[in-house]
Amino acid sequence: MNCKICGNEAIFKLKNHNLKLCEEDFKVFLDRQFRRAVKEGKMFNREGTILIAVSGGKDSLLCWHLINKLAYKSEGVFLDLGIEGFSKASEEKISNFAKERGLKFQILKIEELAGLDIKTMLKKKRFCSVCGMIKRYWLNRYAYENGFNVIATGHNLDDESATLLGNILHWQLGYIKRQSPSLSSFGSKLVSRVKPLYKMNEYEIRTYADLEKIDYLNDDCPFKKGNTQDIYKEALNLIESYSPGTKNSFLFQFLDKKGALFGEEGKLDLRECSRCGMLTTQEVCAYCKLIEKENNRYEFQKK
Ligand code: SF4
Ligand code: ZN
Repeated sequence: MNCKICGNEAIFKLKNHNLKLCEEDFKVFLDRQFRRAVKEGKMFNREGTILIAVSGGKDSLLCWHLINKLAYKSEGVFLDLGIEGFSKASEEKISNFAKERGLKFQILKIEELAGLDIKTMLKKKRFCSVCGMIKRYWLNRYAYENGFNVIATGHNLDDESATLLGNILHWQLGYIKRQSPSLSSFGSKLVSRVKPLYKMNEYEIRTYADLEKIDYLNDDCPFKKGNTQDIYKEALNLIESYSPGTKNSFLFQFLDKKGALFGEEGKLDLRECSRCGMLTTQEVCAYCKLIEKENNRYEFQKK
């Protein structure tokens, strides 16, 4: 098997691109995918510092690694949910990664910030969507309060295509319309969010992270089991195994055709939350509603 670019021995087979590549050209190919994603999505430039949400896993650490390799200014932020064992292990990986490269990162202890016992909430119900909402809220608030104008996350092709499939299966038109690897900011209180790894799949990311000797956390969050997002990923992987490239065309063609299907992204009708002052479409934001509900439940249990 020979590399399609240089003719030397190929080591990696990217079925979705119908490409066989040697190690060197595999890296060049993925670097180009990354730069293209940043350029096409006008994700960031050399002004200001990029805030990277890091979890200690392969995706977010590779994302930070590539941003740093291209010499953009960046800082990491880790949202610590206080999950026994898992959160500490994540923090250690991030801390080692940052130290080795002389990069700065901040830990946000969500339980302290929210005043909630998140672990108990997570144990009581399958809760990824609520957990995701809490993390998005604090990520945005931290970025806004500390003057960052862009947040980068490690979402990849598998994540984005699974999200699209889930939204289509439930005809969540509002979410489908807004799905994008590059969400622009709506006013300074809603910081723009970008996903520079959205053109790369799990296999490509894992392989690249291993080649670059990134020491990432392999374990999943203990509350992830049975997550519907994983079920959509499995379904897409099954289709992909019969028809390589389907995931790429599913996501990329949607992004190409989205404008024609839904028109240009309109401005959201946003106002300030009457409790916390952050932007929302309602009188009280979803995060403040959740906190109030949980606090009421706690008061009720105390009586
Ligand atoms: Fe939260 Fe679910 Fe992610 Fe665990 S897997 S950190 S519960 S969103
Ligand atoms: Zn609020």
